[in-house]
Amino acid sequence: MPETIFSKIIRKEIPAKIVYEDDLSLAFHDLNAQAPIHVLVIPKRQIDSLEHASEEDAKLLGHLQIVLQKVARILNVHESGYRVVMNCGRDGGQSVGHLHYHLLGGRTLVWPPG
Ligand code: AMP
Repeated sequence: MPETIFSKIIRKEIPAKIVYEDDLSLAFHDLNAQAPIHVLVIPKRQIDSLEHASEEDAKLLGHLQIVLQKVARILNVHESGYRVVMNCGRDGGQSVGHLHYHLLGGRTLVWPPG
């Protein structure tokens, strides 16, 4: 599938406020923050969406969740709490075709989401 703006962020061709990086993943602040803390955690290898992930990606997906935990600690929302969201496909509200987790925190979040 065609690459997205996230590939350019991974290659540092366009700027992003990076919070955490390792060989497999990158975490950076969302440009259009929906909460005081809003960070995206993405795999460096493009998977278009959760619907495109396979059993072979299970370890990578697990790694991304541990990265979310690290990001929450780096940004000091690990005790107050936070929400992890992954939008998938049209009805899920996914706008960028490169799988990503949203980490939202820094305020009390309502439920259910819109
Ligand atoms: P989604 O709608 O779940 O696909 O989320 C995509 C997210 O990427 C949105 O929250 C956008 O605000 C965010 N986004 C798009 N372009 C950039 C960018 N260049 N830097 C940071 N965040 C971005």
